[in-house]
Amino acid sequence: MTRKVAGPEIERLVQLLARLPGLGPRSARKAALALLKRRKDLLEPLSEALTEAIAKISECPTCGNLDTVSPCSVCRDNRRDPSLIVVVEEVGDLWALERAEVVDARYHVLGGHLSPLDGIGPERLNIARLIERARSDDVKEVLLALNATVEGQSTAHYLMEQLAGTGVAVSRLAQGVPIGGELDYLDEGTLAAAIKSRRRM
Ligand SMILES: [Zn+2]
Repeated sequence: MTRKVAGPEIERLVQLLARLPGLGPRSARKAALALLKRRKDLLEPLSEALTEAIAKISECPTCGNLDTVSPCSVCRDNRRDPSLIVVVEEVGDLWALERAEVVDARYHVLGGHLSPLDGIGPERLNIARLIERARSDDVKEVLLALNATVEGQSTAHYLMEQLAGTGVAVSRLAQGVPIGGELDYLDEGTLAAAIKSRRRM
């Protein structure tokens, strides 16, 4: 194959970086070189941040959020409405909702979505704990804030069935025309969802 230009350590760094989402082998090589070139202001601080992350960050046993305290800051925050649990696929979704400051509730992070083709069944997601939480007296509503993808929606459907026996109200995000969106630019799926979830005025 290719001729050897460096020791295996650099190749290992590239291979690890290439596993990150959004980084292919080419961009991983670029990233590795950037790190090695900027030793003092990038490589060393990154290495320290990673070591610190390993030591201090863990998954919240209640909701699946990532934090340095356990239970996490969101679960500890008594000002939040204890009657509403917002279910999201990933921690990034929780961050997005928190940035928007639109909801003042507790969360539940599934850790992905159902994907039978990839061997991801219900037992691989943080679902059992959700059902358990939904049964607690405090909780009145579970809002399924899952992605508007085929997998996200089939996961929402599965959760709706599972939550049916718990006595909580189950809701999901509205789907449709985004704020500022022009109909002409929307894809057919979004248009169809918007028509389906139309409201009387
Ligand atoms: Zn938590």
